[in-house]
Amino acid sequence: MGKLYVVGIGPGAHEHISPAALAAIEEADLVVGYQTYMLLVRKLIKGKDKVQTGMTEEIGRARMAVDEAANGKVVAIISSGDAGVYGMATLMFEVLKERGWQQGDAPDIQVIPGMTALNACASLVGAPLGHDSCMISLSDLLTPWDIIERRIEAAASSDFVIGLYNPASGRRQRQIVRAQQIVSQYRDPTTPVALIKSAYRHRQKVVKTDLEHMIDYEIGMLTTVLIGSTQTYMYEGYMVTPRGYHHKYDLESGTANPGQRPGFGLNTETLS
Ligand code: SAH
Repeated sequence: MGKLYVVGIGPGAHEHISPAALAAIEEADLVVGYQTYMLLVRKLIKGKDKVQTGMTEEIGRARMAVDEAANGKVVAIISSGDAGVYGMATLMFEVLKERGWQQGDAPDIQVIPGMTALNACASLVGAPLGHDSCMISLSDLLTPWDIIERRIEAAASSDFVIGLYNPASGRRQRQIVRAQQIVSQYRDPTTPVALIKSAYRHRQKVVKTDLEHMIDYEIGMLTTVLIGSTQTYMYEGYMVTPRGYHHKYDLESGTANPGQRPGFGLNTETLS
């Protein structure tokens, strides 16, 4: 039976593609993806059938991939990062659903996880995702802007570390400016912010700044913006969001603080 692999290839560098993703690409007869991602894996796909398409042809590309796999081919459809995160994975299921595909029908489908931009970007600035975080895409191409604003507001007021995807493009700068204004209603101007462009790719650029100054820098389509929570701090150039061990333990000795019991919920009465 034909097979459809939906493969996340990670942020860019070869060493961040998982062995499972490499094996799926290796097994494929046909590889489908954006030109940029095809370039990232060009050595792996030499000699294979390839379909490269631009940004606006996703639906046609997804249908074609399903057709080819239903006809017996092994097809790998590749997205950067994780294919399920603002990637092609959901679209594949939507195409299958539209066709009335059921478990056991051809093609067999398998999603191969990849390292997301959020994970990759976080690693370049320290440990900003140590506590609750969320991702929000600022692209209003498929989502109404008022819903995006509501989500930014909710994330900011609930003190999530926020990763902003698709923060801006050449024509579109208004959204990131608005996002900064909304978050600033809830967080200090000195809150750490990192702007990571092209993580683990040739033109990688990392800027560490703060909430007040973040929009003074270039932010584009290849940037992920990481905004710290009220707990996030900078330490020796690293952005750190503590898990809260210090509430419960003395970090030098490793013993529980007075009034705290390991394995039990945090006792908030004794916190200073
Ligand atoms: N599926 C991808 C996300 C695609 S959405 C994933 O899981 O990571 C595209 C957005 O992701 C970009 O606008 C940018 O905000 C972010 N992005 C993708 N790759 C990146 C990289 N290497 N460095 C920084 N940001 C990246």
